[in-house]
Amino acid sequence: MVFKTIAARGNIVIESTDTVKLDRDWYFNQLSDLLRSTSKRALANYMMARLLTFTELLDFRFMELNNKYPADQSKKTTSTRWLQCLKTTQEKLPEAVYRMYVDKHFRKEDKDSVMAMIHNITETFHEILDKNTWLSNETKARAKTKLSAMGFNVGYPESLLDDNKLNAYYSNVFKPGFETLGFFELSLTMVKSSALENLKLLAAETEYPEKWPVSTSVAHAYHIPTRNSIFILAGILQPPFYYRMGSSSMNYGSIGSGIGHEISHGFDTAGSQYDENGELNDWWTWSDKYIFKYLATCYAHQYSFYNWEGHQVDGYKTLNENLVDHTGLDQSFLAYRRWVTKRGAEEEKLPDLNLTHNQIFFVSFAQLWCSKVKDGFHPFILQYETHAMGNVRVQGPLCNSNYFARTFDCKINSTMNPENKCFMW
Ligand SMILES: [Zn+2]
Repeated sequence: MVFKTIAARGNIVIESTDTVKLDRDWYFNQLSDLLRSTSKRALANYMMARLLTFTELLDFRFMELNNKYPADQSKKTTSTRWLQCLKTTQEKLPEAVYRMYVDKHFRKEDKDSVMAMIHNITETFHEILDKNTWLSNETKARAKTKLSAMGFNVGYPESLLDDNKLNAYYSNVFKPGFETLGFFELSLTMVKSSALENLKLLAAETEYPEKWPVSTSVAHAYHIPTRNSIFILAGILQPPFYYRMGSSSMNYGSIGSGIGHEISHGFDTAGSQYDENGELNDWWTWSDKYIFKYLATCYAHQYSFYNWEGHQVDGYKTLNENLVDHTGLDQSFLAYRRWVTKRGAEEEKLPDLNLTHNQIFFVSFAQLWCSKVKDGFHPFILQYETHAMGNVRVQGPLCNSNYFARTFDCKINSTMNPENKCFMW
């Protein structure tokens, strides 16, 4: 009954024969118990407290009060007005903001050049799998099928550039006369409209906007095992990850190793449990899985000896990220060499820089992880982060890379070239 009523608001009729899939049915069961056992006074106060979160959409007097007594303690706003306006616009009109971001800061050529890198890196990974000596032919074939089926998403969802769809999406907000509405009323209209659009998705055959799990403008890249896909967002395609005018050695060292990192997530200890369709499915032979786990453990031991500004690294907690940091780096280096071979000649030397392009590749990689952390924040990061921190993300992969040792001619068993290296692919 509840669902029928809610769905009706989006003009969706739920028939008694329809199946409604509930992710968390326990929530609804417990919610009705809670509502029955809570006093009306407490419920009314709760609803008022929820309503108070809207005070951040009112003028300064209310914002000040909201800061003094925030209904939601986590939402205490102390930001400046321009930042607050930016945040609100982004929250309420995300697709419009991403579209403006893409129009202003992104070029189709960037998407094409990153796609070409991805193509080169996957070709390289296929070759690495072909040459692999520890996988059985059976598992190898499945790994290659998974790699071939992987989805690559760069920059933004294509549908974001479709004006008609974008306008239709906001048609409930920007109705005739919307200019006369105050900020508060307009914000409420936006909240309602987005709830309606979400409802429509329940019955929609195609999804608009095509949902990417993280905002287009965020500097981020990620892998989604259940979709067997990677996403390289427009926001990350800027220095130090991507240089529009940079040499290929720089870009393969930075965003290239990032791409290799994300692809490799499909083959780390968690990602490898999903098949080419993103289904949880054990496609490994028993013996291959055994060797895989053994090789992965090497990274856990190696990283447990590292420390970050005096704090010991937890090699097991950060295992998957460390593993793919290394495999991504080596894949991208080989892909870069492949690119040079296809080109038929090394890139021209960069002026005033006495480095070869292979060296620039690794310097560009290392520069990604220059970072500074606020005093006192270290324990918090160590508790929640699954990535190792800056210096370790440089040291670990480079120590494992034979290509790095050869490029810089590091003496065997020197700090950056230990004799015993970890490897996976
Ligand atoms: Zn990662």
